[in-house]
Amino acid sequence: MSEVSQPLQHLESWIEARVQAIRADRDWWPCRRGCDACCRHLVHPPELSAAEWTRVDVAVASFPTPIQTVVEQKIEALLRQSVEQTLSVAVVCPYLDEQAGACRIYNARPLACRTYGFFVTRNHDQYCKQIETEVNDRGEAAIVWGHAEAIRHDIERLSGQSITFATHYRDRIKL
Ligand code: SF4
Repeated sequence: MSEVSQPLQHLESWIEARVQAIRADRDWWPCRRGCDACCRHLVHPPELSAAEWTRVDVAVASFPTPIQTVVEQKIEALLRQSVEQTLSVAVVCPYLDEQAGACRIYNARPLACRTYGFFVTRNHDQYCKQIETEVNDRGEAAIVWGHAEAIRHDIERLSGQSITFATHYRDRIKL
């Protein structure tokens, strides 16, 4: 994806290599196609760096018109909830295909989505029910622990402060 800088691409490649290494000898690791639990339980709408937003915008603009319309309706509904401060405690990502349980912008998905579940920290950051079950069943030694906070800092260092969902969309969408 050329919309992100080379350092960001390197970070993504490094994250992907770690993800593949975890998957290679842990076929039970819960993060895989078909599990969309984290996409349905965001603590807030996406907050991304400018480079990541650009990539998401390009991906959404490339959808066939019917899909684009559906996604834009979800974005608008979420923007309205953000502005009116009526967000649910578990926000469903507007880029999720809820029927298929799959990300519609998979190749353009944010770094946070690439790391979630693979950089699990003992303080339960990036730690969902499925991971919790695995920790309980298999023991801590089976888990590959990560440092999600360090990754967040890397992302900010490479691509700037996060821009909220409301800030990104409110100039584009008339409510
Ligand atoms: S962008 Fe994709 S992977 Fe990330 S939360 Fe949304 S649907 Fe899930």
